[in-house]
Amino acid sequence: MANYDYDLFVIGAGSGGVRAARLAAMSGARVAVAEEHRVGGTCVIRGCVPKKFMVYASEFAHHAKTAEGYGWSPSQASFDWPTFLAAKDKEIARLSGIYVTNLQNAGAELAHDRARVVDPHTVELVNHGRKVTAERILVATGGRPWKPDIPGAELAITSEEAFHLEALPKSIVIAGGGFIALEFAGIFNGLGVKTTLVHRGPNVLRGFDDHVRAHVAEEMERRGIKVILGCQHASVEKTGKGYVSHMADGSSIESDLVMFALGRQPYTKGLGLEDAGVALAENGAVVVDDYSRTNVPSIWAVGDVTDRINLTPVAIREGAAFAQTEFYGQPTRFDHEMVASAVFSQPPVGAVGMTEAEARRALGKVDIYLSRFRPMKYTFFGGAERCLIKLVVEAATQKIVGCHLVGPDTPEIIQMAAVAIKMGVTKPQWDSTCAVHPTLAEELVTLREKFTPQELGAAA
Ligand code: NDP
Repeated sequence: MANYDYDLFVIGAGSGGVRAARLAAMSGARVAVAEEHRVGGTCVIRGCVPKKFMVYASEFAHHAKTAEGYGWSPSQASFDWPTFLAAKDKEIARLSGIYVTNLQNAGAELAHDRARVVDPHTVELVNHGRKVTAERILVATGGRPWKPDIPGAELAITSEEAFHLEALPKSIVIAGGGFIALEFAGIFNGLGVKTTLVHRGPNVLRGFDDHVRAHVAEEMERRGIKVILGCQHASVEKTGKGYVSHMADGSSIESDLVMFALGRQPYTKGLGLEDAGVALAENGAVVVDDYSRTNVPSIWAVGDVTDRINLTPVAIREGAAFAQTEFYGQPTRFDHEMVASAVFSQPPVGAVGMTEAEARRALGKVDIYLSRFRPMKYTFFGGAERCLIKLVVEAATQKIVGCHLVGPDTPEIIQMAAVAIKMGVTKPQWDSTCAVHPTLAEELVTLREKFTPQELGAAA
């Protein structure tokens, strides 16, 4: 049997890589992890965690407006971006440190270096100029934002830079209609930046239920975000005052800053995977099977670099399943079905399962339950904001196959709905659950009226 330096070499210390490395090391395996940036990956360093802090920071302006409706006279509230940035960076440093400690406590070695795969069992630590061998290699390098190949694209920022702006702009144009575009539109708008969202499609959040898509766009506009649909950048120009976004339809928009949030791509460039014979998809994603195995028997990949479901908890579960399979002798596959997701737009979205359109295609006859109403918190003072609750039910079995929510706390609510729906709950079982009153979530178990497709069209 070959004598390797390590039992496992992990490239990338993000959510998936760290989970796999820790579990493998805790089994007694000799594990090393290479990370070229800070430990924690996209989620901790430039994604979910700092984004959520920014969402929290930006929500206070809306809370203050609501407070006025309840009789409060907000004191001279003002927001200091540098103070927030310093606090945010301190917390991110703390969390990154915990990741390092956890790796060390588990017994894994950490190399602050860029790693490159040389052959199926060899990794080069580029800056140290050292080669090491491993029985197994796990690629967990995540993804990176991309920019379109148009004139002036280099002038626009992406989410990577949005976390470290020296000062807040007075106005921003955000291109894109996905998770990141919507979340940052809410953040900047909440922080007082005049925000315009431009998206090429007929509505935002492609892949989500159509009622959700229409509802979110409408509510974002209600909060002051200008949403321009069916429109995309042709070029970006720098002027003395700021930037001009020249759009493909001939229109133009002036702003202090332009941000592209047009998706992320698997980060495999320069990793040496092709040289080692690892098959990549057209967009650079590592092609893997249900056990996260590549076509090279000693190389695996988990997380965004495989472009399956690009969410932190999914990467963690894929990393855990890999470790369970390879180091604990328990073949484990992560089930990618019924993974709930949340968009921290303002208002936020929580969704799990099939959209109405998907269910009609896959299952034929479906029952749709839908409610749009003003949450109690806002009716008190006549606020116009509305939330949306929609259930998609397979007619033949009465199983709930989709749940789609927009409104306050819906990311929290969807987590629990996902448990029941993943377990195959039927509508009668769901309805037999007594409501918790007075809450927004109680509306979920009191939906009785089915909607016809015609009514649904009208409701949207
Ligand atoms: P998304 O895939 O969510 O959205 C990309 C957007 O860019 C889409 O609206 C897409 O439009 C648009 N787009 C793509 N190419 C072009 C182009 N050439 N010209 C104009 N528009 C274009 O990517 P994000 O970057 O927002 O997020 C990446 C992933 O990260 C998400 O899919 C999600 O998996 C994850 N994420 C999760 C979060 C969460 O859990 N809350 C938060 C942030 C990210 P179209 O729809 O027409 O294709």
